[in-house]
Amino acid sequence: MVSYEEFCGGVSKIRERIGLAASKCGLNPENVKILPVTKNHSEKAVEYAFKSGFSSVGENRVMEALDKMGMLDLPVNWELIGHLQSNKAKFCAKFFRVQSVDSAKLLEKLDKAAESGGVEIRILLQINSGRDPAKFGADIEDAPALAEAALKCSHLKLDGLMTIAPLVDDKTAARRAFAKLREIRDGLEESFKIKLPELSMGMSGDIEDAVMEGSTMVRVGTALFGERVYA
Ligand SMILES: *Cc1c(COP(=O)(O)O)cnc(C)c1O
Repeated sequence: MVSYEEFCGGVSKIRERIGLAASKCGLNPENVKILPVTKNHSEKAVEYAFKSGFSSVGENRVMEALDKMGMLDLPVNWELIGHLQSNKAKFCAKFFRVQSVDSAKLLEKLDKAAESGGVEIRILLQINSGRDPAKFGADIEDAPALAEAALKCSHLKLDGLMTIAPLVDDKTAARRAFAKLREIRDGLEESFKIKLPELSMGMSGDIEDAVMEGSTMVRVGTALFGERVYA
């Protein structure tokens, strides 16, 4: 993993990238949060993020995140950005905002977990807005039904939507997927008369495309912490 100084340099570069992309479209860069993605790095990555002023980190596996929580005693918020198996939903109450909710079954499990934990779980719906067959996320067509189901869960709070751009050579595909997510969000706000303020989109390689399409949160791993080592 990179040194703390390199990490801070990375944060400045990301802020510059966000600033440039936002200014191209007349958007306010202050509306775009950076979520440092600490997955596959040691708990030190979380310490870096906290030390430099971030209040949230992203992890993609529940057990890995719980391990780090056990090693650290830091008041950071944990965001689950990886696929969640419904049998792990019970671990999510209290600990995470879950960005990767993509099925009615998972909604049900999370709602139960929140109820029995006496908490509210904040969630985003993950939509496969780039129609990538290799990606998790609900189909575009299923977004309204899923949103309706989420709104009926009295122990869940729907904050917005998340997507991962398709991994393809076509350089315009990411931007189209982000534009699509924004359209879906606008449509849901209109039909359900609700606010869905969070649009979690953009990673190290496609931050600019996401910001230009209205991202409110870019999830950045590699560009902050270096390449991940997979054991
Ligand atoms: C790993 C991951 C990221 C960060 O990816 P980088 O390319 O390393 O910035 C963002 N979002 C999700 C859902 C991820 O799994």
